[in-house]
Amino acid sequence: AKSMPGNSFFAYRSELSARVRDRQAIEVALLDAVVNKQLFVQYQPQVDLASNKIIGAESLVRWRHPDLGFVRPDRFISVAENSGMIIEIGRWVLLQSCIDAAKSATTGRIAVNVSAVQFEYGDVLADIDYALKESGLAPSRLDIEITESVFVSKQDKTIGILDSIIERGVGIALDDFGTGYSSLSYLSKLPVNKIKIDKAFVRHLPEDKQSMAIINAVVSLSKHMDKKIVAEGIETEEQARLLHRAGCHIGQGYLFGKPLDREEFCTLLENYNAV
Ligand code: C2E
Ligand code: CA
Ligand code: CA
Ligand code: CA
Repeated sequence: AKSMPGNSFFAYRSELSARVRDRQAIEVALLDAVVNKQLFVQYQPQVDLASNKIIGAESLVRWRHPDLGFVRPDRFISVAENSGMIIEIGRWVLLQSCIDAAKSATTGRIAVNVSAVQFEYGDVLADIDYALKESGLAPSRLDIEITESVFVSKQDKTIGILDSIIERGVGIALDDFGTGYSSLSYLSKLPVNKIKIDKAFVRHLPEDKQSMAIINAVVSLSKHMDKKIVAEGIETEEQARLLHRAGCHIGQGYLFGKPLDREEFCTLLENYNAV
């Protein structure tokens, strides 16, 4: 039977309200998570593609709920952003990541994700200064990962903050590059030291010629801008070789290692860099 337009409307309504309830439940549970320390961070290795050595890690927040189990960041980060909780969570992730990195000089650089909401409504500079002071981590070992969404509003203010971060000796990496709005030429105006090519472009290599063409364009343009290129989502040896040959400097992905607890990461690093 032909479905009535009205039916699909109600189906949509009830699906929507289920989703709203889901988000509200997550929001309530997330408040609890912050208070009861259910959040933790894991570290995913970043590898120098020329030497095949681990040179650092990206920190990724994790949430283990007593009943819900492991909740993926995709499900709770946007809820944390919409409620403003990301400001507190992000501040804690930054501090914890710096403390963990400062425990050992051999673990290299640490890259921490900072949300556009923190830039707009938080005090990112104060949070960075606090984390560096509390941990004693050298600013030159820290990278802040941002996405193009930080430039959507208050662009001048954001650029001012990024300049101040770089002045401190901290690096800026532009995450998920290629999925947003900005053009390649726009890139030269932004205070960023690294560009992370989104895993959507890596996933279909080596077959997908269009992805390869985009990666080549990003690499060739960035050569004239003194920016390092990071490729994420590398899962095969062939992808790593191809990206290195294309001119990417740093690689990240399951090929080198999944996100790991700090101790596991340290063990991996020792074994990996020993050979
Ligand atoms: P992202 O910043 O792009 O992080 C990379 C994501 O790709 C991570 O997912 C990582 O586990 C996954 N990944 C790494 N290597 C591979 C691979 O080889 N193949 C595939 N298929 N995936 C790979 P995760 O941990 O689920 O995080 C998802 C997103 O949540 C992150 O994407 C980031 O946007 C956000 N996020 C995570 N931690 C934080 C945080 O502390 N603060 C903020 N603001 N956002 C965070
Ligand atoms: Ca990231
Ligand atoms: Ca990314
Ligand atoms: Ca992403």
